[in-house]
Amino acid sequence: MTIRVGVLGATGAVGQRFVQLLEGHPWFDLVAVAASERSSGKCYGEACTWKLDVPMPAAAGKLVVQPVEPRLECEVVFSALDAAVAGPAEESFAAAGYAVLSNARNHRMADDVPLLVPEVNPGHAALIPVQRKKRGWRGFIATNPNCAAATLVLALAPLERAFGLKAVAVTTLQAISGAGYPGLPSLDIVGNVIPFISGEEEKIERETRKILGTMSGDRIAPHPLTVSATTTRVPVVDGHTASVFVTLGGDPGPDAVRETLRTYRSVPQERKLPSAPAHPTLVVDEEDRPQPRLDVNRERGMASIVGRVRRCELLGYKFIVLGHNTIRGAAGASLLNAELLHSEGLLSR
Ligand code: NAP
Repeated sequence: MTIRVGVLGATGAVGQRFVQLLEGHPWFDLVAVAASERSSGKCYGEACTWKLDVPMPAAAGKLVVQPVEPRLECEVVFSALDAAVAGPAEESFAAAGYAVLSNARNHRMADDVPLLVPEVNPGHAALIPVQRKKRGWRGFIATNPNCAAATLVLALAPLERAFGLKAVAVTTLQAISGAGYPGLPSLDIVGNVIPFISGEEEKIERETRKILGTMSGDRIAPHPLTVSATTTRVPVVDGHTASVFVTLGGDPGPDAVRETLRTYRSVPQERKLPSAPAHPTLVVDEEDRPQPRLDVNRERGMASIVGRVRRCELLGYKFIVLGHNTIRGAAGASLLNAELLHSEGLLSR
């Protein structure tokens, strides 16, 4: 039996990815789309400026866009709402009994809200009953990380598990689609690099430590490692690249680091969840890869693509990682979270 789902913020960059990824999903049936009053009342096909390079699913195009109110005829909602409105809107859905899978930043760092990456911290789903009890909700909110943190942690988790992690320094080169639609003015970004993305560095630093943290009683104890991030926006359409430097617990050598990343598998692969990549960290050996244009859609956009693993005189090891910001960094991540929770019986009301 399929589960009825809705998408909040369905007309935006991430919302469109949800609509695309949900087409033909074996477990979830998209029955509702919601967005702002600018869009509600119109057919989705009319309200939405479709920007993906695959056609809009025909059935979704006929859905009528509804207001973001907890009156949608479904059990689960995926939230791709603007952060300016996501906070109270997601809470009202969770209180009304919906399972809310959110992309927005608003609840990610709350003590009782899981910040889930199924290959990294599936056990953090244990916060859901804690949250329900504490807030008296029939539903719940589970979140996925910031798009750059999502790509980064998939590459860090295997290293943490195998060798231990002490410090991470990361500089990102982030795609324009990460700023939503219509995003940045072309005159600002074409032929340019912008060395600042508001709030992004703090998100990467804090979220990485929470995701890699451990359950301690009713909360997550953040991982004690040091994370230092610099973020930049570059003229790439899809795909966040990052240059990463790590200090490990030992000195295993670059071949062992590469092999550890290449062979990493976790719960989504074991359970064969529908959106799980076969290789969550896909290691490429060519010296000029990964590149966003050539590699971002590998593993259907659900993997972190790692290349150029080598020694670093300063911190120990360094590598490049690439991830699809609206798939593994947003809608695909949320969908995989929903699949994980469904496989644990946590999606039913
Ligand atoms: P976006 O393209 O600007 O879309 C925002 C969506 O929110 C639209 O559907 C919009 O509806 C809706 N919305 C705006 N104001 C609203 C209101 N007052 N009431 C109800 N709905 C409203 O943004 P995005 O890039 O898709 O990002 C969506 C969320 O995901 C954000 O919280 C963002 O931080 C997060 N995120 C984005 C990425 C990424 O790579 N883009 C990655 C990870 C997380 P209308 O079309 O009707 O205005």
